[in-house]
Amino acid sequence: VEMFVGVGAARARDLFEQAKKHTPCIIFIDEIDAIGGTRGTGANKHEEREGTLNQLLVEMDGFDGSEGVIVLAATNRPETLDSALTRSGRFDRQVTVNAPDKKGREEILRVHTRNKPLDPDVQLGTVARGTPGFSGADLENLANEAALWAARRGADTITMSDFEHAKDKVMMGAERKSLIMTDEERRMTAYHEAGHALVSLKVPGNDPLHMVSIIPRGRAFGVTVNLPVDDRFSVKKFELKARMAMAYGGRIAEEMIYGPEGVSGGASSDIVQATRMARAMVAQLGMSDKVGPVNYGADQEMSFLK
Ligand code: ZN
Repeated sequence: VEMFVGVGAARARDLFEQAKKHTPCIIFIDEIDAIGGTRGTGANKHEEREGTLNQLLVEMDGFDGSEGVIVLAATNRPETLDSALTRSGRFDRQVTVNAPDKKGREEILRVHTRNKPLDPDVQLGTVARGTPGFSGADLENLANEAALWAARRGADTITMSDFEHAKDKVMMGAERKSLIMTDEERRMTAYHEAGHALVSLKVPGNDPLHMVSIIPRGRAFGVTVNLPVDDRFSVKKFELKARMAMAYGGRIAEEMIYGPEGVSGGASSDIVQATRMARAMVAQLGMSDKVGPVNYGADQEMSFLK
């Protein structure tokens, strides 16, 4: 049975009733964090959502294991789930699905380009090599964007260069050309991004610089992007320090040009990123000489370790 479930306890009850009528049956809840976030916190303050989560827990407790209904849920943010959901006895198994490796990405691209007219010059293996860290959804998006790009050119087939354009768009978000920046804002953004880029080039340990841009995308006025040459599954201390240095490169460049009182808020996400890394290095990864190899506090999500 496929049905759309919004929020609401009644809907949740409904879903399980439907499922019991159609056994054997699998209930799949995508992005369960939308309703299953920790109760009573910012992530899940909404009353209706709490009602849905409570109903879900009630329904799952009602199972005796022989009803022929299997509940399967997916999330990209397991650390935000309410503890009642992750407690043993609720979901029997947790399977971590990592981002696909090069081979996996090639296979996924093959699926999503099956019905698309590819130019003979397109090597999906090469596209896969150039997209480390891309999820299955990102790759699907990439294939669609490449096709759109080709269509916009009026071409009959999708070429490698269409994939290149699509990659930048998927990686950094669509360009917001409608956002009018003043010359001064643009100049400041240029200094800021150049600061990131320079530090990235000068401090050993960063991935190769892929692109620097001062065309606004999403909420960012500019971007500096590094791209690993291959899949990465671990990261070393000096590399984390290099990333932290690069994160502060933008603010430092602004300070050098405009003085300590002339800096902008453009570094806010850089600061978030660097702080999160520093905290993990000290409290979880045992990379501080003063604190030593000790774990402090709950494990946080450390997705930046790739
Ligand atoms: Zn920045």
